[in-house]
Amino acid sequence: MELTELTPIKEEIKGVLGDKIDDETLEAELKRYLNDYGVGIEQTKRGIIRKYGGADMTMVVTGSSVSKKIGELTGSEQNVDIVAKVLYAETKEITVRGLAKQIISGILGDETSTTQFTIWEPGSITLEKGSIYNFKNCYTKVWNEKVQINLGNRGRVELAHGVEMDVAERVIQTNPTECKISELKEGQGNVSVTGRIISMEARNVVARGRETTVYSGVLADDTGKVQFSAWNDLGLKEGETISIKGAYVRGWRGIPQLNLGDRCEVSRVDAVFDVVESGSSRKTVAEIVKVGGGLDMTVEGLVVDIKAGSGLIKRCPQCNRSILNGICTAHGQVTGINDLRLKIVIDDGTGAIGAIVKRQDTEKLTGITLNAAEGLAMAQGEGVVAREMATRILMKRITATGNVMSDDYGPSMIVNTTSHVETDVLKEANALLDELEAAL
Ligand SMILES: [Zn+2]
Repeated sequence: MELTELTPIKEEIKGVLGDKIDDETLEAELKRYLNDYGVGIEQTKRGIIRKYGGADMTMVVTGSSVSKKIGELTGSEQNVDIVAKVLYAETKEITVRGLAKQIISGILGDETSTTQFTIWEPGSITLEKGSIYNFKNCYTKVWNEKVQINLGNRGRVELAHGVEMDVAERVIQTNPTECKISELKEGQGNVSVTGRIISMEARNVVARGRETTVYSGVLADDTGKVQFSAWNDLGLKEGETISIKGAYVRGWRGIPQLNLGDRCEVSRVDAVFDVVESGSSRKTVAEIVKVGGGLDMTVEGLVVDIKAGSGLIKRCPQCNRSILNGICTAHGQVTGINDLRLKIVIDDGTGAIGAIVKRQDTEKLTGITLNAAEGLAMAQGEGVVAREMATRILMKRITATGNVMSDDYGPSMIVNTTSHVETDVLKEANALLDELEAAL
């Protein structure tokens, strides 16, 4: 295509970007997108506008369904088609909301970039490494400041026949990045961290068929705590402040874990160092979403929802799983043991996070003890317990502390401690029992 034919397109882009791009750069970009990348005019417009004007401006020209190159993805696409080569793919089993399911994840590449992808409902889809596919109806998210491609139940995968593609080289990082613990994110390689060892243990595990020792512990700085592990005995002791260079970050359900691999350098630091000690690191939900999870985090916000599975529940006496209708998924028909639990959503204005609250804190937050709940269930039915709890905590402000994990549905906290505006558990419980007795 001759550049003279592009005048209307140039005018349109300049109309959006104004003086954010000069003529020379615009012409070079147009050539690159249209000739080198071989993408269509609409995508070219969006790509250039996004690159020079930011994601927000893209909305001006974005239609409903589009196809894009990986390098053009912003992480906010809801419905996008991507033709890409599978560089790596594996089938994994994950647990979502207590159920095991298979997913396929790996790395896709095209001429513009490479990125991770996940197929959440693979069905009978199989992917062959090195083959090029058309991934349809994808959505994207930003994770570790990188865009990831997701295929949900609307997603489709078709072999792209007769398409050839040279894949962009992956970016390799060389200098260690100095990080605070709260900044660590799954997938980071080559990071440097300084912190104090607040616990340390050596455990024997079986790895690749032979018994070996793993040295693990918890490292803290003034921003947070992180679990770390090493396969070599580095002679690390509780209370020492250390500087780690060249570690990498793996994740377990969104919780970052620091791995001290063979190329990692560890040195002792002779410095007084403030750490988040017995307490925890207070975070906004937005900050937690950004890193995906972590240990001992505290959020404060309003309880905006109570989910199904809250209130009086029954647990398997053998494995402690919550059971439905007397059936444990592992042990079959069992006589369940009563327990209390809350599954709530806490919103702090920056975002919302799911939280699972165990019995003790459920009693504390709602003022309804297990005994009172059993009485209430007997008198008025089990569903009443959750409804009564809801009236007592919905739209109340609480703080919750616990470990935060993430899955495709976002972050959730397994709560260890909670607090809110004073509730006298005994007094409230007695009042409730009085009420009950009066009703019987
Ligand atoms: Zn069981």
